[in-house]
Amino acid sequence: MNDVTPTKEDVYDVIIIGGGPAGLTAGIYTTRARLSTILFEKLGAGGQAALTDRVENYPGFAEGISGGKLVQGMEAQAKSFGIITIFGEATRVECRDGDTIKRVYVDNDPVPYKALSVIIAAGYKQRKLGVPGEGELTGRGVSYCATCDGAFFRDQSVAVVGGGDVALEDGLFLTKLAKKVFIIHRRDRLRAAKILQERAFRHDRVAIILDSVVDEILGQTKVQGVRVRNLKTGEFKEVKADGVFVLIGWIPNLSFLNGTVELSDDGYIMVDSEMRTSREGVFACGDCCKKGLKQIVTACGDGATAAFSAQQFVERLRGEAYA
Ligand SMILES: Cc1cc2nc3c(=O)[nH]c(=O)nc-3n(C[C@H](O)[C@H](O)[C@H](O)COP(=O)(O)OP(=O)(O)OC[C@H]3O[C@@H](n4cnc5c(N)ncnc54)[C@H](O)[C@@H]3O)c2cc1C
Repeated sequence: MNDVTPTKEDVYDVIIIGGGPAGLTAGIYTTRARLSTILFEKLGAGGQAALTDRVENYPGFAEGISGGKLVQGMEAQAKSFGIITIFGEATRVECRDGDTIKRVYVDNDPVPYKALSVIIAAGYKQRKLGVPGEGELTGRGVSYCATCDGAFFRDQSVAVVGGGDVALEDGLFLTKLAKKVFIIHRRDRLRAAKILQERAFRHDRVAIILDSVVDEILGQTKVQGVRVRNLKTGEFKEVKADGVFVLIGWIPNLSFLNGTVELSDDGYIMVDSEMRTSREGVFACGDCCKKGLKQIVTACGDGATAAFSAQQFVERLRGEAYA
């Protein structure tokens, strides 16, 4: 990512874990505040946003912008202020009681990097169906985010896989755009809130297919439908659809935290309005936090707030706080 090699002897002001929009924005703010900052990214800068063909809802781009281009700009901006970015996976964060230094272990190396504060921006990953066609057609009709991609299916047919609140909320949202929405769920009843179920069942553009799983997503260069298997009868049928929204849950990328900070019941980091976690000096931002709207713009806002909180924390530790 860049040529500077950080040392494990130095104590940095901030370590950021994750190089998506949240982590990169945090890095822009910490480096502009002249805090020495290293950012670890395990895959490639940009996070999930880099996978998005066209982002139409990030302010300032009336024609939309490719997700890749947007996050490349964020990375370049953070580098211009002096961030050190390194390919590597944070595998453990250690905060010892009574010690102001936090230790971040990377790629299971026994010698940690050290910092006064840590910002966790690790995002989450969507649960996948794991069926043929899913990987090949992701971004070509297979999506994991109706808010992001729904507009591409105006007046078309879409299939939503899942039966929870998110699947139904997003399925109902898609009725505003698509001409037909098939909701496919493996159980004999939906799990979503009753009010959502009532709305879905009475909507004339929604068809609910229960007791059924998607065995294959069909199409060569773009989605053309799904092959559905009824779990009770064993029968197969093809449902024609131009898009498939897989909404069967998410898994936050937080196994490396191992009890360092408080998590919600569903595994997200609990933060306050200043993006402080339950652990002093550890902040979090973006999709790995417990919150409602998970989007690029909210990830960036969280990142800026987390950076500002980290700045205040570090300056207080050093006795440099601006009273
Ligand atoms: C297909 C798709 C389309 C989307 N379209 C839109 C859209 O149009 N508009 C919109 O606003 N939002 C969209 N989103 C949502 C948006 O991409 C996310 O809300 C946003 O990227 C969240 O940013 P983040 O930085 O919190 O997390 P992420 O983007 O998930 O970034 C987290 C980063 O942390 C890294 N990481 C995780 N664990 C570790 C570790 N232990 N060590 C080091 N690195 C680690 C990951 O590799 C990743 O790069 C879309 C999402 C998808 C999947």
